[in-house]
Amino acid sequence: MSAREWLNKDYYADLGVSSGASADEIKKAYRKLARENHPDANPGNAQAENRFKAVSEAYGVLSDPDKRKQYDESRRLFGSGGFGGGGGQGGFGGFGGGGTGGFDIGDLFGGGQTTTTGGGAGGLGDLFGGLFGNRRSGGGSTTANRPRRGADVETEVRIDFAESVRGATVPLRLSSPATCSTCHGSGARPGTRPRGCSTCDGSGLVTRNQGAFAFSEACPDCQGRGKVIDDPCAECRGEGVSTRSRTLTVRIPAGVSDGQRIRLAGQGEPGRNGAAAGDLFVVVHVAPHRVFGRSGDDLTITVPVTFPELALGTTLTVPTLDGKVSLRVAAGTGTGRILRVRGKGVGRKDGTHGDLLVTLQVAVPSKLDGKAAEALEAYAEATADDDPRQDLDELLGR
Ligand SMILES: [Zn+2]
Ligand SMILES: [Zn+2]
Repeated sequence: MSAREWLNKDYYADLGVSSGASADEIKKAYRKLARENHPDANPGNAQAENRFKAVSEAYGVLSDPDKRKQYDESRRLFGSGGFGGGGGQGGFGGFGGGGTGGFDIGDLFGGGQTTTTGGGAGGLGDLFGGLFGNRRSGGGSTTANRPRRGADVETEVRIDFAESVRGATVPLRLSSPATCSTCHGSGARPGTRPRGCSTCDGSGLVTRNQGAFAFSEACPDCQGRGKVIDDPCAECRGEGVSTRSRTLTVRIPAGVSDGQRIRLAGQGEPGRNGAAAGDLFVVVHVAPHRVFGRSGDDLTITVPVTFPELALGTTLTVPTLDGKVSLRVAAGTGTGRILRVRGKGVGRKDGTHGDLLVTLQVAVPSKLDGKAAEALEAYAEATADDDPRQDLDELLGR
């Protein structure tokens, strides 16, 4: 495989993964696509066959750590294939990816020989670094013609506590770049088409001779795109992409916790030239509840009780997120005791629920009227022999 052929490919887009994908993600994507497009499963389907070949080739490179490194390095040096989220900054974009001429790395060496990448990537890198170093950062904004996976998009949503426990369906309004609906991404005013750049024959590159050297650089007339748009689309000003608002309905699963990210595959920015769309990540913010708290799958609540209720026993009516439950409190229950109401907590994936943990806390009146004060004084007198701190002294050995 020559370096030139390499540079015309976007193996990441072929597999529908990001350039930062792990070996595992790459393997998974490959297996899925290979299965879907396998010739045995698609007899006589040329499109599937081509797809199968492309996927296999991409996997052959990306599954080999050394080859992948070389490939990444080449792309980095040329600023091509861009997964950078559409910054459009620098880079040569497609080397004739959709143009007529194509571009031969051999030309740069003056001899026209095909350069293989086996072990030679370092040397290539040095050479290109020298030739293109100042050009690449020169701000020539280019758009690759090749397929390019859409960028991931992140957004936020706020839900209330009860929604986080039960799950919710929320409409999400997104403003994000999308393929221009006026020109369908061509960048040209409807009814017109971009034409191949005559200066560079559509390759996006021109050769400049200087002394003994021939320099290749981005075509000044098409900024390396290989295409010229005489009559740009008014909607997107020739970019082929415009900002659009769309409303998505997002299902928030029951039991989501504050700060959790939910991934919606394929709902990010659209891919270019037929590549896969990016993903949408929704960060969920959960508003705290005035009464209920949460501890894992359990809900928590602190319920004020009176001293007589704990001392004599009682039946409490305790609120849950849906309705109320009766809770039996045995005589002699201590303050701070936590009672468990089964199944009144947060729903789990398997359909079961956590519990409601009820903390009993004695509420001490800040003021007592005469009758109550008298009764309490009588109580104190009746229990004068009971010293609740007796155990402390014993434990301390005094
Ligand atoms: Zn447009
Ligand atoms: Zn040109």
